Amino acid sequence: MPAKKKIYLDYNASTPVDPRVVKEMLPYFTEKFGNLSSDHAFGWDAAEAVENSREQISRLANCKPTELTYTSGATEAANLALFGFCQKNKNKGDHIISCKTEHKAILDTLGALENRGFKITYLNVDGDGNIDLKELENSITAETILVCLMLANNETGFIHPLKKIAQITHAKNVCIMSDITQAVGKIPIDLKDLNIDMAIFSSHKIYGPKGVGALYISKKNKIHLDPHEFGGGQERGLRPGTLNVPAIVGFGKAAEIVFFEMNSDSRRLLELRNKLETLLLKIEGAEINSKEANRLPNTTNISFKNIEGSQIFRRLNMLAVSRGSACTANTVQPSHVLLAMGVTGEQALASLRISLGKLTSLEDIEFAVAEITKTIEQLKTATA
Ligand code: PLP
Repeated sequence: MPAKKKIYLDYNASTPVDPRVVKEMLPYFTEKFGNLSSDHAFGWDAAEAVENSREQISRLANCKPTELTYTSGATEAANLALFGFCQKNKNKGDHIISCKTEHKAILDTLGALENRGFKITYLNVDGDGNIDLKELENSITAETILVCLMLANNETGFIHPLKKIAQITHAKNVCIMSDITQAVGKIPIDLKDLNIDMAIFSSHKIYGPKGVGALYISKKNKIHLDPHEFGGGQERGLRPGTLNVPAIVGFGKAAEIVFFEMNSDSRRLLELRNKLETLLLKIEGAEINSKEANRLPNTTNISFKNIEGSQIFRRLNMLAVSRGSACTANTVQPSHVLLAMGVTGEQALASLRISLGKLTSLEDIEFAVAEITKTIEQLKTATA
């Protein structure tokens, strides 16, 4: 009997690299291996490839190529942005506003800034994940230098009204940065229209390789950062060190593919996601988190009442789903996102994040529903 296939439903954690991306990257490991800082044909080839990728990525996000700085991922970009901005602007104030439901890449960096004397206000959210825009406005003081709010939440898919938030923030002469990592490649992104000052995102969420990402810094809004890494002056001195050309080429190609295929992929995934939710909601005690909110088309977060959370994961071994963000998945703590939304600790532990992607089929969804339904029913009878 052939071994049963494991079903991957954790695309918000990471995506497989698209074979077209791999093909584009391969020559840059071997014949086109030059260091882009070298002033000869090998270096020029590498430099051209890096700039070509910058164009491809900027097209996806609707910004200028010169507004993008390559990093090793969204986490490094968050560190460069937050530390660089706060250091540069510390004479203007020491207060930052963020939200309880941000990713650890932001929360932990803000925590490090707090240890260095900055004051952080973490906005509350309602049961769907919405911040109160009045609370945001009222939290801005004369000392506030930055608002930091993600576009789409990695656990629930909740989408913040970022353009409106940027308007409120700018009206008070405060800058805004956004973690757009989960939104890129799933919904159209127009950085020019959003009019935010800084943004961070990552290649491995859009079928590109791991270990490469980008920091967007608005030229129009004249944002400047103090450098926090030092070396050979690459990336205008903000992120020095020899660039990972194959990964950057892959990031660019992934961005190009996503630019053309996102709309049809997202439509298909939304249909699958809706089907998944309809079927899962037939389980007694099942509740979709952020159900009524504007959400990413590929993400569902579902909680089950009166079930011991740790048991669900032990039994669901044919499915790769997540109980929280992947970065904190090794520590079995209730999700800070769900807790902030008012979900009880017990119910948060009995929650699944299911995120669909390019390779997800209807059969995968049907299999997942059957496995989850069976598991929950077994756990109910075990505890009855
Ligand atoms: N921000 C969000 C919303 C994410 O989902 C992730 C990845 O899980 C990150 C930041 C970190 O990205 P990277 O792995 O590129 O550092």
